[in-house]
Amino acid sequence: MFERFQTVRSAPMKDFTTLRLGGPADWLITPRSALELKEILSEAGDNALPVTVIGQGSNLLVLDGGIRGAVVRMARGLTGCSVLENRIVAEAGTMMSSVAAAAAEAGLTGLEFASGIPGTVGGGVLMNAGAYGGEMSQIVQQVTVLGHDGQSTVLKSDELSFGYRCSALQGREMIVTQVVFQLSKGDKREIRERMNDLKRRRAEKQPLNVPSAGSTFKRPEGYFAAALIDQCGLKGYAVGGASVSSLHAGFLVNTGESAADFLELMCRVQRIVQERTGVWLEPEIRILGTAGSDFST
Ligand SMILES: Cc1cc2nc3c(=O)[nH]c(=O)nc-3n(C[C@H](O)[C@H](O)[C@H](O)COP(=O)(O)OP(=O)(O)OC[C@H]3O[C@@H](n4cnc5c(N)ncnc54)[C@H](O)[C@@H]3O)c2cc1C
Repeated sequence: MFERFQTVRSAPMKDFTTLRLGGPADWLITPRSALELKEILSEAGDNALPVTVIGQGSNLLVLDGGIRGAVVRMARGLTGCSVLENRIVAEAGTMMSSVAAAAAEAGLTGLEFASGIPGTVGGGVLMNAGAYGGEMSQIVQQVTVLGHDGQSTVLKSDELSFGYRCSALQGREMIVTQVVFQLSKGDKREIRERMNDLKRRRAEKQPLNVPSAGSTFKRPEGYFAAALIDQCGLKGYAVGGASVSSLHAGFLVNTGESAADFLELMCRVQRIVQERTGVWLEPEIRILGTAGSDFST
């Protein structure tokens, strides 16, 4: 199956996630065009295989048992990006850093906040990714999505119900294939300075040289997850190779090989923070796959 596509059989998901965790996906397929993507969906449908879509894997915890069926990896595949006056049209697998760089090069402002978010534009839309006061909802004009039934639809920004780290696309069988950003004319030098400033701030505050999926938990209303975790004395707290970063308590980082340890750490942090502060931390990262190491292909 899937022989004519760019396919890895029994693909270790730890090689395709920034957290560096996760057992094997039965098939990991990287479509090189929207047409190939359609064909992959059709072949998966004909064989009654479940389909999971990922981007760069920068917001994912994949469990140790891996993922059954086909994983479609948009990063590295659909990566076209073009500037049309004040708009940028990007295929879903384009990295946000590349789109932000293209915007800066064209003297377009609005995407600076996204330059340090290490994911694709498709994942960014699904998550309504944001930083430093900006978020995708402010600049996305429309997206093209492909249903698992092969039907393509264009959705305008106001149809996406963007909220804090969420969108109407979550939990739906829809694959983002293209995103159109509406930006404004700006000063190239100022845009680059802002991007450099944000890069510096990230490097100072975030553990960028240790595997993570960014902020593990969402910001609870009226609080900051990192401050609550820190206040509970949990910086450095570990379960096996998973630990709370001592640089930024909102980042749970991984130096081990067990997704089960990471999940256990998440649960313990949630429990301790709730007991001591009364606030429940909702995960921001998305959990995929099956627990345990039993799998059959
Ligand atoms: C060091 C670091 C810093 C980070 N900083 C930030 C930050 O400042 N702000 C922020 O918001 N996030 C941040 N993140 C988290 C992450 O980068 C974002 O959530 C990003 O938008 C995820 O994009 P991705 O392509 O990696 O998606 P993935 O992690 O691969 O997937 C995320 C979700 O999107 C779905 N998905 C991916 N692509 C598609 C598609 N084309 N169509 C449909 N569904 C799709 C997946 O099924 C999954 O549910 C950070 C992560 C790291 C590691």
